[in-house]
Amino acid sequence: MNFNSHTDAVVAVAVCLVNALTLGEARGRPYTPPEGEERRAAVVEVLGMGRRAESVGPAEADELTGVAGALRVVFESVDRGDVDTAAESLNRLLAETDARPHLDRHDGEPWHLHFHGAGGTLAGDWAASCATGLAVVLGGELYDRLGVCTATHCDRVYVDTSRNGTRRFCSTACQNRAKTAAFRARKP
Ligand SMILES: [Zn+2]
Repeated sequence: MNFNSHTDAVVAVAVCLVNALTLGEARGRPYTPPEGEERRAAVVEVLGMGRRAESVGPAEADELTGVAGALRVVFESVDRGDVDTAAESLNRLLAETDARPHLDRHDGEPWHLHFHGAGGTLAGDWAASCATGLAVVLGGELYDRLGVCTATHCDRVYVDTSRNGTRRFCSTACQNRAKTAAFRARKP
């Protein structure tokens, strides 16, 4: 599946932000999101910025943690079939982040559409981009491809990019855990 390459990349970032920055369970264990400098480092890693890492401050990492919580609501709502709540949450987030389209050209690429947010900060731009990327998904035919892991003791989220839309787990680790559990359950 390919919404378009930019949307795919932004949706992947949204998934990583939710999984890195929201409280819950991950692959069989309780998960507590990092704080302080570790939080900043986690955000830098998700955004894959390398040498631009110094441009994410602690306040921006905190801002994105708040955004990750709002994005989680979207995945959870779609997962339980409540698309109305997902859409309302996204509309609120689009308004809050002041998402606006902006054509950009850099690094030898052709003109392509980015989304900028309020304040001109990196965090603001990413918040606006993630909200827009998920809005594109939710407004399309493949709107139900957002999901929450179905393995026990895991609530990490995913976007199902498989051809037939049969993904149920956040990771290979959880897929294997579920297989092992099912195998044990079948034993006499
Ligand atoms: Zn999982």
